[in-house]
Amino acid sequence: MSLERPVRIAYNRPHLTGREFTYIREAVDAGQLAGNGAFTRRCQGWLEAKLGCPQALLTHSCTGALEMAALLLDLQAGDEVIMPSFTFVSTANAFVLRGARPVFVDVRPDTLNIDERLIEAAITPRTKAIVPVHYAGVACEMDTIEAIARRHGVVVIEDAAQGLMAAYRGRPLGSIGHIAAISFHETKNVIAGEGGALVVNEARFTERAEILWEKGTNRSQFRRNEVDRYTWLDIGSSFLPGELTAAFLWAQLESAEEITARRLALWRQYHARAESLEALGVVRPTIPPYASHNAHLFYLLLPVAASRADVLDELNHQGVNAIFHYVPLHDSVGGLRYGRVASRMDVTDDVSRRLIRLPLWIGMSEDDVAEVVNCVANAVAKRI
Ligand SMILES: *Cc1c(COP(=O)(O)O)cnc(C)c1O
Repeated sequence: MSLERPVRIAYNRPHLTGREFTYIREAVDAGQLAGNGAFTRRCQGWLEAKLGCPQALLTHSCTGALEMAALLLDLQAGDEVIMPSFTFVSTANAFVLRGARPVFVDVRPDTLNIDERLIEAAITPRTKAIVPVHYAGVACEMDTIEAIARRHGVVVIEDAAQGLMAAYRGRPLGSIGHIAAISFHETKNVIAGEGGALVVNEARFTERAEILWEKGTNRSQFRRNEVDRYTWLDIGSSFLPGELTAAFLWAQLESAEEITARRLALWRQYHARAESLEALGVVRPTIPPYASHNAHLFYLLLPVAASRADVLDELNHQGVNAIFHYVPLHDSVGGLRYGRVASRMDVTDDVSRRLIRLPLWIGMSEDDVAEVVNCVANAVAKRI
């Protein structure tokens, strides 16, 4: 057994702006702790302005927002939803909970996003939606995806969990699909511990979204004095976070530009330094010209010949907390049970085995970045 050295460079450290406690105190002093209060409305207003969308609703998680999106589609058992297999389980689970079937297609080798050229062949009369996932905050090829959706009359739901402050051809991620879901989980760029938002870009969904959000009632209309009492109208659940979470999130949203700029600076240092790894067969991420990303994460693809488990062991032994990412959904226990594969999965199978994510958080120094890249170089050189 090897003696692990302590973690010197953690994978992630939540960044605080310094105003979180001030706003939480304000929320406590104001005496409203449940959801849909002043901080919730401030956060929602910020998102609506930033994304240019008619409606943003804070949720307790991106998972909850995806579940709301699935509810809005009125899915029936056997309906199909096209998505990548290289994603987080919630992308699929939200639809499986409604009895729908995730239909998996492969990803592009450059961005690891859904391969838009494979989507049309996966469409059947049961297809109700396409769910592009903007991996690492790098945009999917949305023009093509929107054109396919229009041709077949299906809805586009962006899984923009990682996409806040990133854009596709100048359009903010989360503002492009009919509906989008954003995450404020501790591991994302802008955080609330657990938290998320449903973004509605289509007027036909807004009224019902608010009702689903408030447990199936028109309580929001009542609070705006639009009706004289509120009552049960539809299915729904409790999707909203409390005001303490919204107060924390408000401090973060106010600093979203600065957070993104500081992460991008670290990402660029990584990208420049990692050029030296290409001689070892290590591949750096590609940002296509249509995408302006938010430096959500920095990953590398190891050479086929290097054992990823050994490289990660070596890095962690050196105190550099690098980690792998998604285990593909299509051949997982849940994927086999609930989903269907609609294309080759060569790229998904290949990259999911070779990918490592490197530490990236505000507070890391340029020396830390250099050190991580050196450790990767040594670990890979030893293993090939
Ligand atoms: C983080 C993430 C989610 C889930 O977000 P939560 O807020 O933790 O529910 C869903 N999809 C993707 C692509 C994610 O990265």
